[in-house]
Amino acid sequence: MSAEFFCYLCRKFFQNFSIMNIQQIRNDFPILTQKIYGYPLVYLDNAATTQKPQCVLDYIMKFYTEYNSNIHRGVHFLSEKATEIYENARLKVKEFINAKSRTEIVFTKGSTEAINTLAYSFSLKYINPGDELIISEMEHHSDIVPWQLYAQSKGAIIKVLPFDNNGELLLNKLENLITEKTKIVCVTFASNTLGTVNDVEKIIKTAHSHQIPVLVDAAQAIQHVKIDVQKLDCDFLALSGHKIYAETGIGILYGKEKFLEELPPYQGGGDMIKNVSFLKTTYAELPLKFEAGTSNFVGAGSLHTALDYVDKIGLENIAAHEAELLKYATQRVEEIGGITIYGKAKNKVSVLSFNINGAHHYDTGMILDKLGIAVRTGTHCTEPIMQHFGITGTVRASFALYNTFEEVDRLIEGIKRAKKMLVQ
Ligand code: PMP
Repeated sequence: MSAEFFCYLCRKFFQNFSIMNIQQIRNDFPILTQKIYGYPLVYLDNAATTQKPQCVLDYIMKFYTEYNSNIHRGVHFLSEKATEIYENARLKVKEFINAKSRTEIVFTKGSTEAINTLAYSFSLKYINPGDELIISEMEHHSDIVPWQLYAQSKGAIIKVLPFDNNGELLLNKLENLITEKTKIVCVTFASNTLGTVNDVEKIIKTAHSHQIPVLVDAAQAIQHVKIDVQKLDCDFLALSGHKIYAETGIGILYGKEKFLEELPPYQGGGDMIKNVSFLKTTYAELPLKFEAGTSNFVGAGSLHTALDYVDKIGLENIAAHEAELLKYATQRVEEIGGITIYGKAKNKVSVLSFNINGAHHYDTGMILDKLGIAVRTGTHCTEPIMQHFGITGTVRASFALYNTFEEVDRLIEGIKRAKKMLVQ
């Protein structure tokens, strides 16, 4: 029996005994039935955004056809119904991440807005000239630039927690970076480029032993890892709905109540006030203090629906399937030879970044695209990671619950073809 055939049988065995029925799951995602340039779509750009299940699409249609009305400000039936959907979504998120109270869940348009909200308010309240922030070297730009905009402009200094060539943070350096001037530590739970799952629990314990709060960017973790904010004891957490099968334009800033109470609002406008006069304005209770203007109430309901969908399948089952896909894909990419993988941490989410040696990532991505395979190329909004490795970008394949081993095989065939075309 050939090694390849043996692998095929093992995969079939795994699929048959997996709790998840992948074909049934794929039927929930109508976009996956498409053909691209005549090939069945292989969608491996899930770290950028996930596809939406039919239940989310149905919910959106139902909302606009039956309930559409603005929230909080109306006494009429539709407005009350829309408000109920919005506030129930908040309760769902509270349960999903096990927050202590619904008041700790602030709706934003995504992780980026969540971090901007925090960076602005935190800097205004707590940052003075000469203060320090610690940010990991593998952060997404959205956990770097807001701090540069607001904290640096108040005279703060950003210190960087580095990672090694496997893509693992050098946690032993954290203690040395901390001083009495350190005001916050910002770290991603999982890297969107390297896939690394960081030991955020350890980082939080270390920071807390110096009474320093920690922001966890969970944009790439929420769809793969069970997060319990009380157990983790993080002070702030950001996430994006569109990465976990909900609509775009909805996200969450979680913050411990004691901090959110103290922090000033980020934006001013309707819904975030108690009373307004030209002499004095008072703010609404949490969490509305941070939700100025008309919120994405339709998106909030879509997040509720998506989280219910994930709960029905089980995050642990999704993670187990994705781990198998990553293991298989990594092994098969390594077998090709002449390929560099970026991100070899022991604990990873299903993200595989690589380059064909001697080929540009865009060229590889373009060839894969013409074969119906969607991957992302470039810096993935993590230029410091590119600077670390001295490269201009990578090809990134990222897997979700609906991806199959056959799709990994298609990716491998595509990479082989690209290699033949691009490297002499
Ligand atoms: N952090 C990480 C780790 C991410 O991967 C992303 C999205 N690529 C973000 C933050 C920003 O998320 P969004 O664009 O949804 O605001």
